[in-house]
Amino acid sequence: MQLHSHTVRRYDIWLVASTCLAVAFFLAVTFRMAPVTTPMDRIGEISYFSDLNESVTYDTWQDVSADKWQRVTNPVNFGMQHMPFWFRFTLPPPPGNADERLLEVRYPLLDNIAIAYYLPGSSEPLVSYTGGDIKAFATRPVSHESLLFPVPASEQTLTAVVRVKTSGTVRLPLRLWQEKEFIEYTSKQNLFMGVFFGFLLAMGISNLFLFITTRNRTFLMYSGYVFSLTLTLGSLHGFAYAHLWPELVWFQGRAVAIFANATIMFALIFSRMLLRIANYSRRADLLVKVLSILFAVNILVSLLLPYAYLIKIFLVLLSLVVLITLAVGVWLALRGVVVARYYSIAWAFLLVSGFTASLDNLNLLPFEVPSNYLLMLGAVVETLILALVLAISYSHNREEMFDAKEKALAQEKAALTARQDLFDVQTRYQEDLEYQVQERTLEVEIALRELSEANRELEKLNSIDSLTGIHNRRHFDKRLLAEGRRSRREQTPLSLAMIDVDYFKRINDEYGHAGGDACIQHVATLLQSLLRRPTDDVCRYGGEEFAIILPNTDLQGARRVIETMRQQVAANPVQVDDRTINMTISAGIATTVVTYEEHELALLKHADKQLYAAKEAGRNQVIAEHLPD
Ligand code: GH3
Ligand code: MG
Ligand code: MG
Repeated sequence: MQLHSHTVRRYDIWLVASTCLAVAFFLAVTFRMAPVTTPMDRIGEISYFSDLNESVTYDTWQDVSADKWQRVTNPVNFGMQHMPFWFRFTLPPPPGNADERLLEVRYPLLDNIAIAYYLPGSSEPLVSYTGGDIKAFATRPVSHESLLFPVPASEQTLTAVVRVKTSGTVRLPLRLWQEKEFIEYTSKQNLFMGVFFGFLLAMGISNLFLFITTRNRTFLMYSGYVFSLTLTLGSLHGFAYAHLWPELVWFQGRAVAIFANATIMFALIFSRMLLRIANYSRRADLLVKVLSILFAVNILVSLLLPYAYLIKIFLVLLSLVVLITLAVGVWLALRGVVVARYYSIAWAFLLVSGFTASLDNLNLLPFEVPSNYLLMLGAVVETLILALVLAISYSHNREEMFDAKEKALAQEKAALTARQDLFDVQTRYQEDLEYQVQERTLEVEIALRELSEANRELEKLNSIDSLTGIHNRRHFDKRLLAEGRRSRREQTPLSLAMIDVDYFKRINDEYGHAGGDACIQHVATLLQSLLRRPTDDVCRYGGEEFAIILPNTDLQGARRVIETMRQQVAANPVQVDDRTINMTISAGIATTVVTYEEHELALLKHADKQLYAAKEAGRNQVIAEHLPD
């Protein structure tokens, strides 16, 4: 919560104004309240002696030798002492027609006090009283938060003898009141105290309400702090004993310790939350946390140990807290945390006043202003400033929260737009990519088609005989295998014819190789033209030999086709260089229904065998025979 100067500066005026107002109001009321005549002056010299052995009683105090009595002035403050003290002073007779008089011991925390009034020369007391906060409130001669003892009416000077024994500080601020004066003073004082405690209670309650509505625990801690402070001051002034727990004598002896510890504990927790010390230093936060736990433990210890020890522990811890919290506050203020600046001012007010009050209490600091009033002043100013700081911090945090929410909303919006942009880019990219892929696919398809066409062309070229343009031996082998399988599958007869030109060596010899080639071309073309079915296939087997595959053709059918060929070759001589060449062919035919693997090879061999037979038989003829099983 690094409060920025400009956001907080506008609260400065409120801070100064409310502080000044509180101090002015406090001082005005204090001065208005001061009695015209100081009832303190009416007590003259006081003699005292300390009863180290606790052996003196009201029967024997007159035996104490005169040299043991010492002088002291009103108000008495001996600091922490455990032994009993005896005080002796004289009360002059009242001016004529006076009211009843009251002797006030303005320190309600004394454990034991006894007082006896003596007439001059008498060893028997005129009247005696006891009091103190280890006695039930109801036993007091006057039911009042302060210790009040009526002075018996007498025309003579009275001697008052007071015995004090307490576990805390030995103080004896004595005042001698006329009853009328006291009533007037009390009326003012009650109004003042009413306003003071009313202010604290209102602060505590309003912050409790703020906690209930906002659920912000800092308000609760502050409220706890203010209530504890109220009870501490109420106990110090004796109001709490008088009005809240007049029967609880045991509790009264510990009330100040309990509530003072609770006050500091709440103050420490509140400080941790308000300043968010953890955000700046883990170690400082831990230290403050440990201290708050220490004070919480101290509350429990307060129930067990007597006040005398407690107040010492408390004061040591308090001094530590004063230094540490102020140091943390100032450190954070210097780091630019503006809330810490106000916090330090507020804390300094109470702690300095509390500290001086404690020193005064221990009689380490002779202070004219009553220490209780100092504490009250500190408390009022501090409570006020802290409430203001809390309000500033809370409203600032809310503003920060709203800012953060707005920022988060804007960021979310930006993220959404960015996501939409990304999505658009992705879509566009994907579309591009898809288009490119389609383009490439098309190109590849075209290339593949071209390639397969080229392949087909190559295959075709591979299976074509270059001289004659009919199928070659390579094609024949494949085709024979395929037709053999079909015959086997479909159980149809497969016929195969082997054809050889007769006496070709002679033709070669007579007309040359070129002439021979022309003859081979002529025969091939002729044979090709004589095929009847599209499945029939004539191939150049090698040299001047041809092989003809006739699928699904029986022996008779094959013989007819080949016989026609033989006749046509014989009847169609070829013209080469104006010379006519006559040719004949011999053919062997074999037919079978293929039944096993490589059956077609046997068919080929058999056809070849028939061709030989035709040559043997005189050439220019066709021999056909079924392949024997
Ligand atoms: P037969 O009646 O017994 O078949 O007698 P033939 O002379 O035809 O003897 P054979 O079939 O054994 O000989 C084939 C001859 O054909 C051998 C070779 O000189 C000739 N020849 C083989 N291939 C070609 C070719 O591609 N072109 C030419 N011009 N002659 C070839
Ligand atoms: Mg031959
Ligand atoms: Mg031949």
